[in-house]
Amino acid sequence: MATNISLTNQFIDLEHQYGAHNYHPLPVVLDKGEGVYLWDVEGKKYFDFLSAYSAVNQGHCHPKIVQALQEQAQQLCLTSRAFHNSAFGPFAAFITEYFGFDKILPMNSGAEAVETAIKIARKWGVQKKGISQEQAQIVVCNNNFHGRTTTIISFSDDQAAKKDFGPYTPGFISIPHNDIKALKATFASNKNIVGFLVEPIQGEAGIFTPDENYLRDVQQLCNEHDVLLIADEIQTGIARTGSLLAVCGNCDCESSCLRQPNTFAAPDILILGKAISGGVYPVSAVLADNAVMDVIQPGEHGSTFGGNPIAAAVATAALNVVKDENLAQNARKLGQLFRNAINEYIKTSNIVTLVRGKGLLNAIVINDSPDSETAWNICLALKENGLLAKPTHGNIIRFAPPLVMNENELMACVDIIVKTLRAFEPN
Ligand SMILES: *Cc1c(COP(=O)(O)O)cnc(C)c1O
Repeated sequence: MATNISLTNQFIDLEHQYGAHNYHPLPVVLDKGEGVYLWDVEGKKYFDFLSAYSAVNQGHCHPKIVQALQEQAQQLCLTSRAFHNSAFGPFAAFITEYFGFDKILPMNSGAEAVETAIKIARKWGVQKKGISQEQAQIVVCNNNFHGRTTTIISFSDDQAAKKDFGPYTPGFISIPHNDIKALKATFASNKNIVGFLVEPIQGEAGIFTPDENYLRDVQQLCNEHDVLLIADEIQTGIARTGSLLAVCGNCDCESSCLRQPNTFAAPDILILGKAISGGVYPVSAVLADNAVMDVIQPGEHGSTFGGNPIAAAVATAALNVVKDENLAQNARKLGQLFRNAINEYIKTSNIVTLVRGKGLLNAIVINDSPDSETAWNICLALKENGLLAKPTHGNIIRFAPPLVMNENELMACVDIIVKTLRAFEPN
């Protein structure tokens, strides 16, 4: 009997044999998390530089969020919304005030919230604009990532996400991101557009931040053409990019500044997920004002777990942590330090061509073909050196640590990253 298989490989073998092969994880088996740190089953400690794709902005197992989960779990977990419960109403009042909208429609996963926004926009188009439901169109961006449902992958460009899953859902027009002329031309040539669905910064595509004026111009065009602006802030929201939402722009406020003069844009529909719960529980939300949200009436949309008491308690605690710990300001400050440090390294580097991003949502581009293994191999080496990050789209590595990181920890991470990259420099 082979008894010398490492604990790590035992867990990986189990997952490989009994779990569907729908992911390609880094070969590390995590067992414990606290704040910015993770530990694997061998007891090795790592800095987390992915934060579960920006779901764990508040850090792993934040005590206040875990406490809210425990207390609510002992009192009431799930009623379905066939009945009222004592947690959802207060949460709805809290989150709408927090982000500055009239109403919330609660769901669980990000993709479900995107689906919800699509349904609301279509129904609004039919009922408020008189567009036939056979004709309604939603404009989306090339290289978008909005989730994994059949409708959402219908307007994806990612062949791996899309191929052989047809037939695809019609009703979507895809144009380049950060291209206001393309949006203008599309609006001008089609009278059946109900919404423009956009990531303020494209995350999965490789952290593409649009021009400074883009979102403001988008907002203005949407207003002129009576088209709903639908912002998917599942990854960019909740302080990740250095303001509460990426659409808030460059302002310093910790709370929502939508509808303030210097805001980039105030979406008609705001989609949130991931860090809305600090990664403790699946919670997503669609926020809109009454004129939009009220198109949905009883029986027309729902979810058994959406708005359940645990989700309400956890999300309230997680959003309070964002404000109490000034996570947006911290992300803005550390993000600047991070990009400065990496830019300094890039001056003498052949392996990294650039660093880009906003707040603590950043990426480096590796100087090799997108088909090469270099970014993957760098991530393996980073893991050996005690830092966990993941490539996205071939030769790009995303760097998104929990926002509770402090400056000393960030500089320790920069040291690990620089030391690791040096080993990949050609001689
Ligand atoms: C992660 C993500 C989603 C999908 O969220 P799930 O919870 O995985 O369904 C949608 N949009 C964006 C921008 C995301 O980053």
